[in-house]
Amino acid sequence: MSKLKIAELFYSIQGEGRYMGVPSVFLRTFGCNFKCAGFGMPRGELSTEVETIAFAHDNIPYKDYKDLPLVSTGCDSYASWDPRFKDLSPMLTTDAIADRITEILPFNEWEDEHLVITGGEPLLGWQRAYPDLLSHPKMTGLKEITFETNGTQKLDPKFKEYLTDWSFGSDEREITFSVSAKLPCSGEVWEEAILPEIVCEYEQVGTAYLKFVIATEQDFADAECAIAAYRRVGFKGHVYLMPVGGVESVYALNNRTVADLAMKNGLRYSDRLQVPLFKNEWGT
Ligand code: SF4
Repeated sequence: MSKLKIAELFYSIQGEGRYMGVPSVFLRTFGCNFKCAGFGMPRGELSTEVETIAFAHDNIPYKDYKDLPLVSTGCDSYASWDPRFKDLSPMLTTDAIADRITEILPFNEWEDEHLVITGGEPLLGWQRAYPDLLSHPKMTGLKEITFETNGTQKLDPKFKEYLTDWSFGSDEREITFSVSAKLPCSGEVWEEAILPEIVCEYEQVGTAYLKFVIATEQDFADAECAIAAYRRVGFKGHVYLMPVGGVESVYALNNRTVADLAMKNGLRYSDRLQVPLFKNEWGT
């Protein structure tokens, strides 16, 4: 039986992208190939907020995700990949994960809920374990899955074949890749973050769309360059602009500006409903 290192597993409303407002189970895997310490910082500077939290965790360990402080700069899900917090993410069997999902679904079985496999970066090595989970008898009623990815990981050939069989086995089943490609404002390097051929491959398996986090006009100019690069290799999916802001004070500063930018340029706007609704607390 396969195992997955799970940072969080919770039930909430999807706050972003295509399934905004849909009741969803979130499975947050541990590990990421990026750090995204540039979010919310002046260009060229990296956030050090997590250093203080890691120092505190080293001295008096936090017992649970819900106790961890939120950050206003850098990656807002830092504990899902930073090795200094790995003790908070248990390694669970697919049986245990399926049991837990059944417990948190409102009617203890899949109805109209959607599964979000997120991270961290959920398309790292965990691709090998997903078929075991998705084939579990308790997952039978599941119809819609979204992978929230940074769009840098190729699909493992066996997993690609499994997903193709899964979605084409039933007209009702749908797979989505919500690709949050990282622009320079994230602090990541363009050549490692904008990989259009990889995202085009996702379109062979399901629906893929791009979602860019925007704080400034410069970010939008970067997004335009990235969109052109994806289109050049044949990417057909929709494009969303989403305001930066893991905390309400930051989000509220630029959500209207980003909505205006999206309208002006004929692009889609994605909110971050989890921020105004739930203050972006862990487990929401
Ligand atoms: S890719 Fe996502 S999870 Fe990974 S560091 Fe960046 S924002 Fe965080």
